[in-house]
Amino acid sequence: MQLIFMGPPGAGKGTQAQLLADLWKIPHISTGDILRACVVAKTPLGEKAKAYMDAGELVPDGLLMDIVQERMNQPDAKAGWILDGFPRTVPQAAFFDTLLCDVPGGGGPKSGKDCALRAVNLDVPDNVLVTRLLSRGRQDDNEQTIRRRLQVYREQTEPLIEFYRDREQLVEVDGDRSMQEVTAQLQQVLSGNS
Ligand code: ADP
Repeated sequence: MQLIFMGPPGAGKGTQAQLLADLWKIPHISTGDILRACVVAKTPLGEKAKAYMDAGELVPDGLLMDIVQERMNQPDAKAGWILDGFPRTVPQAAFFDTLLCDVPGGGGPKSGKDCALRAVNLDVPDNVLVTRLLSRGRQDDNEQTIRRRLQVYREQTEPLIEFYRDREQLVEVDGDRSMQEVTAQLQQVLSGNS
């Protein structure tokens, strides 16, 4: 099982990714969580990333590529994974394509297009997202940052929907329903593909 979870901030990617990862006993790899841990630990990477995150901007691609490459090479990523929050830009997706085929379990030396990858897009309308994020209350969940994150998502991440649709790897799920309903639908559309 190799899954990418896409969708705007507040779509419920993290919640659903964690649930399914527990169920399928594969790692849930969240670049947002990794970055937040680096910020808390005040590592050099965390120091670099903090200002971008607080402003609702994307952290530069190069930093994310290093993080993901290192994480994907760890032994627990061999059997599959759910990647949450990456790729978030077209250059990240292109990089990931080349990486996928080099990492253990990546499927060997062929193009990312041939790997057993599925990209899930959780779709939720903007007004619902803003309400959800404001009630979540994370450090970067103030109204100004939320607006910027949504804008960055539309500009830089949404094009990935077409990228994966073109490759017939896209799975679209309506995220504007109860958590349980979304989980059930994800299980239904994704099972049988592990
Ligand atoms: P959200 O729940 O709002 O989607 P995440 O927890 O996934 O947020 O990420 C929080 C912040 O971490 C982002 O706003 C961004 O600054 C940074 N970040 C996470 N993943 C990436 C990525 N792939 N590329 C660039 N920045 C990222």
